[in-house]
Amino acid sequence: ETWLRYALKRQEFEVYYQPKQTLMTGRIAGAEALIRRCHPEQGYISPGRFVPLAEETGLIVPIGEWVLRTVCEQSARWRQQGLPPVQISVNLSSVQLNQPNLCQTLERILQEVDLPAHYLELEVTETALMQDVDSALRLLHQFKDQGIQVALDDFGTGYASLGYLRELPIDTLKIDTCFVRGIAQDPKNQVILRRIIALAHDLDLAVVAEGVEQAEEMEILKSYGCDAIQGFWVGIPMQAGDLVQHF
Ligand code: C2E
Ligand code: MG
Ligand code: MG
Repeated sequence: ETWLRYALKRQEFEVYYQPKQTLMTGRIAGAEALIRRCHPEQGYISPGRFVPLAEETGLIVPIGEWVLRTVCEQSARWRQQGLPPVQISVNLSSVQLNQPNLCQTLERILQEVDLPAHYLELEVTETALMQDVDSALRLLHQFKDQGIQVALDDFGTGYASLGYLRELPIDTLKIDTCFVRGIAQDPKNQVILRRIIALAHDLDLAVVAEGVEQAEEMEILKSYGCDAIQGFWVGIPMQAGDLVQHF
């Protein structure tokens, strides 16, 4: 907890951006913001090692707000520079979803940096939403009213009820890495992927596949009609300056 506080105060966190490629056009139309901690001696520390602790201590609230502000400022800068529009996704933890002033915070940040809401997408996991479905529904409707897009992250790995897919006002399903890994040799994963993509499209949702590492995986997903892919094959998480080269 002490080092997390220090890291926030000393501005040792950094936002990396992982490009997302639209399969129809080959264009990089979005990126996911992923937090890193850069330490003078220990180098980069991945969020898997500190986000759970930040959630436990509640520090994810100020850290998450810092991520949102950093991303929106960056996105507004790119827009002012006249670069092609790129939607940036920010991960929200269940602790942030339970903050009563989350919507006001989002609105304030977007206003202060002068960024249209559709440039921002929020990623929430099904597990986080299922903790309190009624308030999650209210919250997602508020996002929708604000014009902010929502993606369901790590789809297929939590305890989601398919019934909620119908009710939740979400825009995108992000299919978890575990269904994409080794897909060429895994007939069961092929069935699951094909069916999830068809189901999502029938419900008017876009589909992003995560963890695409090989051209072969990309080709299979393309043949299934998957809308976009993210993963090392398209690009690893990178600094903002490097992402611009992909626009
Ligand atoms: P996530 O949102 O599902 O993010 C995707 C993770 O998969 C990232 O790990 C990314 O680096 C990794 N990844 C991307 N492409 C590939 C690939 O081709 N192969 C493999 N093996 N992995 C790939 P990362 O950056 O370590 O983040 C882990 C998790 O930490 C994220 O999972 C997210 O849940 C959380 N996280 C990251 N940044 C934030 C943040 O700003 N706020 C919150 N609340 N959580 C965050
Ligand atoms: Mg994510
Ligand atoms: Mg994910």
